[in-house]
Amino acid sequence: SDSSEGEGKDKLVMATNAEFPPYEYYEGDEIVGIDAEFAKAIADKLGAELSIEDMAFDSIIPAVQSGKADFAAAGITVTDERKTQVDFSDSYYTGRQVIIVSADNNDITKPEDLEGKKIGVQLGTTGDLYSSDDYGDENVERYNKGVEAVQALQQGKIDAVIIDDQPAQTFVKENEGLKILDTEYVEEAYAFCFKKGSDLTDKVNDAIAELKKDGTFDKIVEKYINA
Ligand code: GLN
Repeated sequence: SDSSEGEGKDKLVMATNAEFPPYEYYEGDEIVGIDAEFAKAIADKLGAELSIEDMAFDSIIPAVQSGKADFAAAGITVTDERKTQVDFSDSYYTGRQVIIVSADNNDITKPEDLEGKKIGVQLGTTGDLYSSDDYGDENVERYNKGVEAVQALQQGKIDAVIIDDQPAQTFVKENEGLKILDTEYVEEAYAFCFKKGSDLTDKVNDAIAELKKDGTFDKIVEKYINA
C-alpha cells in the first residue's frame, strides 16, 4: 500500500506472532491473516496507521504491559490469569484446542488417552498451560513455533500435539501423515489485549461491534477460512 498513506496519522503498534495461520502468517515479507486484516480495519476506523511487530508468542503480553506495543492480536485466548496482566477486548472469535496425532495412531482417540504420553505444544500458549496442568509438566515438550511441534510429531519424537484448530488444519495439510482427532480438547474465546487501563480498549470494542455488524469481519474470515 501507499507509504504516504500514514502521514500525520497516529501510529498503532500491534504485537503478534506471525506463525499462526490463518490468523497471522507471512505471505512474502508481508504479515497477513484474519487478525492482521481485522486489526487494519480497526485502525482505519480509529484513523490510525497500523504497524505490526512480529515476536515470540510468550513476548507478546510483556510487550503490551511495557507499552512497547499498543495492543496485541495473535489468536490470544482470554484466560483468568492473563486478565490479571492485561485488559481484553470483547471476544471476536471462538477457537478450539485440538489434538493432532499420527494418521496411523489408534491408541490416542480422546483427551484421556494422552495420560503418560509426550505432548508437543507452542511455548506459553493455552495448549501449553492446559496440557501441563492436565498431563504433568514432565510430559509436555515446548517448541517456539507450533509448526515445530507438528514436525517433531511427524518425526516420531512426540506422541501428540495440542494446538488451536485453525492452525492445526493448516499444519496437517502441509505436513503429511497426521490427523486431527474429532474430540476437541478445550473451547476458548479469542480477543485483543491492551495494557491495563488503556483507553484504547473501549474504542477498539466499538470498532469491533461496527465491523461485525456491517459484515466486514465475516468477509475477512471467509477470505481466510474455507477459502
Ligand atoms: N490461543 C492460544 C493462546 O492464546 C494460542 C495463540 C497463538 O499461538 N498465537 O495461547
